[in-house]
Amino acid sequence: MSEQAMQRADPLAFRQAASRFATGVAVLTALDLHGEACGMTANSFVTISLSPPTVLVSVKSGRTHDAVSASRRYGVNVLPEQAKALSKHFADRSREAFPGYDIVDGLPRLSNCVAFFACEVIRTIDVSDHTLFIAEVSTCDYCDSLPLVFFSSRYHLGPGQPVDH
Ligand SMILES: Cc1cc2nc3c(=O)[nH]c(=O)nc-3n(C[C@H](O)[C@H](O)[C@H](O)COP(=O)(O)OP(=O)(O)OC[C@H]3O[C@@H](n4cnc5c(N)ncnc54)[C@H](O)[C@@H]3O)c2cc1C
Repeated sequence: MSEQAMQRADPLAFRQAASRFATGVAVLTALDLHGEACGMTANSFVTISLSPPTVLVSVKSGRTHDAVSASRRYGVNVLPEQAKALSKHFADRSREAFPGYDIVDGLPRLSNCVAFFACEVIRTIDVSDHTLFIAEVSTCDYCDSLPLVFFSSRYHLGPGQPVDH
């Protein structure tokens, strides 16, 4: 153990620097203890390994966290570029209605998502006020529509222009 306290980045600088890492936007979905669909906007989705197909999401306490903890399953719905309103809907605490979805592999799959992953939790790690839900992917699908992008705390259309390899 170091005798000196570890230096911590300034919170505002950290937030602004982190916002420069462009991500897609997903809605994490689950079924709660009553079998009701619930979901929240998340951009902490990470692919951990391809074999076995393993992912993680980092989730703060709340309804979706409770549902994933109890059911040990979650769906990751990657949003298309025209879905800013849907992202805002699922980030709003006061949301009530759950928009159109099907049940795929026992999990809510939003209509028109660009990609969907059905995930089985294999490990959880609590880190400060979040839980990392590490999961194996039991099914997935995708289409060729462009995704919604989150960068510098704002929504952007699509991934921009490809650059040469
Ligand atoms: C682009 C984007 C990306 C995001 N990515 C993530 C992400 O990766 N991980 C993540 O965790 N969040 C993320 N969020 C935020 C998240 O979408 C919202 O916090 C959402 O409302 C969480 O929904 P929920 O169903 O889990 O929680 P809800 O139950 O709706 O609660 C919302 C928040 O309020 C708090 N809360 C709930 N009930 C109470 C209460 N009674 N008293 C006090 N506080 C309470 C919860 O801790 C939670 O943080 C993101 C938001 C946006 C816009």
